Amino acid sequence: MQIADRINNLGTENAFKVLAEVNKLKATGKDIISFGLGEPDFNTPENVKKTAVEAIRSNYTHYSPSAGIPDLRKEIANYISRTRVIPVDPEEVVVTPGGKPGIFYSILCLINPGDEVIYPNPGYPIYESIIDFVGAKSIPVPMLEEKGFSLDVNKLESLITTKTKMIVLNSPQNPTGGIIEKEDLRAIAELAIKNDLIVLSDEIYSEIIFDSKFCSISSFPKMKERTIILDGFSKTYAMTGWRVGYGIFNKEVAAHIANLVTNSVSCTATFSQIASIEALRGPQDETLKMIEIFKNRSKLITDGLNDIKGIRCIKPKGAFYVFPNVTQACVNLGFKTSEELQQYLLHEGNVAVLPRSSFGKRNVGESEEYIRLSYAVSNDDIIRGLDRIKKAVEKR
Ligand code: PLP
Repeated sequence: MQIADRINNLGTENAFKVLAEVNKLKATGKDIISFGLGEPDFNTPENVKKTAVEAIRSNYTHYSPSAGIPDLRKEIANYISRTRVIPVDPEEVVVTPGGKPGIFYSILCLINPGDEVIYPNPGYPIYESIIDFVGAKSIPVPMLEEKGFSLDVNKLESLITTKTKMIVLNSPQNPTGGIIEKEDLRAIAELAIKNDLIVLSDEIYSEIIFDSKFCSISSFPKMKERTIILDGFSKTYAMTGWRVGYGIFNKEVAAHIANLVTNSVSCTATFSQIASIEALRGPQDETLKMIEIFKNRSKLITDGLNDIKGIRCIKPKGAFYVFPNVTQACVNLGFKTSEELQQYLLHEGNVAVLPRSSFGKRNVGESEEYIRLSYAVSNDDIIRGLDRIKKAVEKR
């Protein structure tokens, strides 16, 4: 069959490819420790699961409105109002099957071919993929190790042209665990206002933040109307398989996004939505416990990585990823790129990680090598995995 041209512009998320490779190796009897996939290794809280089972028994098994069940939209509006300190009307909320469709729908709805969209790089690969897919120009802004994996606002400003329509932000960030500090967010807000730009703020890790307070760019004056907030239940409530996320849009855009939902998936699974109401309304202790555990692990894994010759790792400030610099380890092992290191660690060390190339094209002038490790694995596995990496990396 002849594939449509536009498909060639679509990227992918390599984490799923590595997962398939890991599963294949495991099926042959290999014991692989995987730092590959970005999902909490915790179970969904019992109260949420119980609510879903009851919802199915009560026949919440039909379609729901495309924009989401009114009670859930109301609960989300309350939650976002409270946490971002902005007024949010339930009609500004659109529920989607996970956080990911929010990225897809927002860019599809607001970006024309030829528009320029600035996005974080390294970054969650779906931004670059969808920007390219709609025929826009993807303009990477480097996330810099020396800035704690935040961006340089002057650099960002230099990338803005008359064609720039949107800036994508993600803080706390996948894959680096970095955050954009409040003062930088303020400066970015000023740039957005001055240049009349939309900000797509992916805040899916907003609750998983360690020593600082989360700050949303939407909280600055005059920013709510030009910001799209994306968030969801996958990470905060360990609900990746339930597929519930949402976006906060102005009412006009929300109606178009809801129409995109109607045209693509009709609605988000109804019982998943009922369970999500309970996630927001019910006790938060499981989530708080999970965040504390991630915080402890972030120290364990950072210290362990820094103890390996040729690897240096800055302490993440949120999410559940570390992004160590492995340039010297690659040199020591005779590897040109972190992809070679990733393959070596998988096949010789029995440890799965993701290479830099899984998170966007290399920035101009970028010469360092990185890998991502997700520490959504037990302390035991972190210790055993680090031991394997150390042995493999220090072997030569
Ligand atoms: N945004 C970022 C930055 C992510 O890391 C992820 C998942 O890894 C998502 C969005 C998508 O989340 P969901 O599983 O809810 O679609």
